[in-house]
Amino acid sequence: MKKVLSLLAVSALLASTALMGADTKKKYTAGSCCDKAQKAGKVCPHPCCVEAEKKGEICKKCNS
Ligand SMILES: [Zn+2]
Ligand SMILES: [Zn+2]
Repeated sequence: MKKVLSLLAVSALLASTALMGADTKKKYTAGSCCDKAQKAGKVCPHPCCVEAEKKGEICKKCNS
Protein backbone atom coordinates (compact mmCIF):
# COMPACT_ATOMS: atom_id res chain seq x y z
CA MET A 1 0.00 0.00 0.00
CA LYS A 2 2.84 2.33 0.85
CA LYS A 3 4.36 1.69 -2.57
CA VAL A 4 1.15 2.66 -4.32
CA LEU A 5 0.99 5.92 -2.39
CA SER A 6 4.53 6.90 -3.25
CA LEU A 7 3.89 6.08 -6.90
CA LEU A 8 0.90 8.37 -6.82
CA ALA A 9 2.98 11.11 -5.22
CA VAL A 10 5.66 10.79 -7.88
CA SER A 11 3.18 10.90 -10.75
CA ALA A 12 1.45 13.90 -9.21
CA LEU A 13 4.80 15.64 -8.90
CA LEU A 14 5.66 14.87 -12.51
CA ALA A 15 2.28 16.10 -13.68
CA SER A 16 2.65 19.40 -11.83
CA THR A 17 6.19 19.85 -13.17
CA ALA A 18 4.94 19.24 -16.71
CA LEU A 19 2.17 21.75 -16.19
CA MET A 20 4.59 24.34 -14.87
CA GLY A 21 6.90 23.71 -17.78
CA ALA A 22 4.09 24.28 -20.24
CA ASP A 23 3.14 27.43 -18.41
CA THR A 24 6.57 29.03 -18.55
CA LYS A 25 7.18 27.99 -22.15
CA LYS A 26 4.93 30.60 -23.66
CA LYS A 27 4.52 33.66 -21.56
CA TYR A 28 3.32 36.59 -23.58
CA THR A 29 3.08 40.06 -22.20
CA ALA A 30 -0.49 40.75 -21.16
CA GLY A 31 -2.26 42.82 -23.77
CA SER A 32 0.30 42.16 -26.49
CA CYS A 33 -0.76 41.11 -29.98
CA CYS A 34 0.40 37.54 -29.26
CA ASP A 35 -1.46 37.44 -25.95
CA LYS A 36 -4.68 38.60 -27.58
CA ALA A 37 -4.29 36.10 -30.40
CA GLN A 38 -3.63 33.24 -27.97
CA LYS A 39 -6.67 34.14 -25.89
CA ALA A 40 -8.76 34.08 -29.08
CA GLY A 41 -7.39 30.59 -29.77
CA LYS A 42 -5.24 31.82 -32.64
CA VAL A 43 -1.61 32.42 -33.44
CA CYS A 44 -0.39 35.97 -33.86
CA PRO A 45 -0.11 36.73 -37.61
CA HIS A 46 2.62 39.38 -37.32
CA PRO A 47 5.69 38.37 -39.36
CA CYS A 48 8.01 39.17 -36.47
CA CYS A 49 5.97 37.00 -34.11
CA VAL A 50 5.67 34.15 -36.61
CA GLU A 51 9.44 34.22 -37.04
CA ALA A 52 10.00 34.05 -33.28
CA GLU A 53 7.42 31.28 -32.99
CA LYS A 54 9.33 29.18 -35.52
CA LYS A 55 12.38 29.30 -33.25
CA GLY A 56 10.21 28.35 -30.31
CA GLU A 57 10.60 31.79 -28.87
CA ILE A 58 8.40 34.73 -28.04
CA CYS A 59 8.66 37.87 -30.15
CA LYS A 60 10.65 40.27 -28.00
CA LYS A 61 9.58 43.26 -30.06
CA CYS A 62 5.93 42.80 -29.23
CA ASN A 63 6.31 41.21 -25.80
CA SER A 64 8.62 43.45 -23.86
ZN1 LIG B 1 2.45 39.16 -31.88
ZN1 LIG C 1 6.17 40.58 -32.99
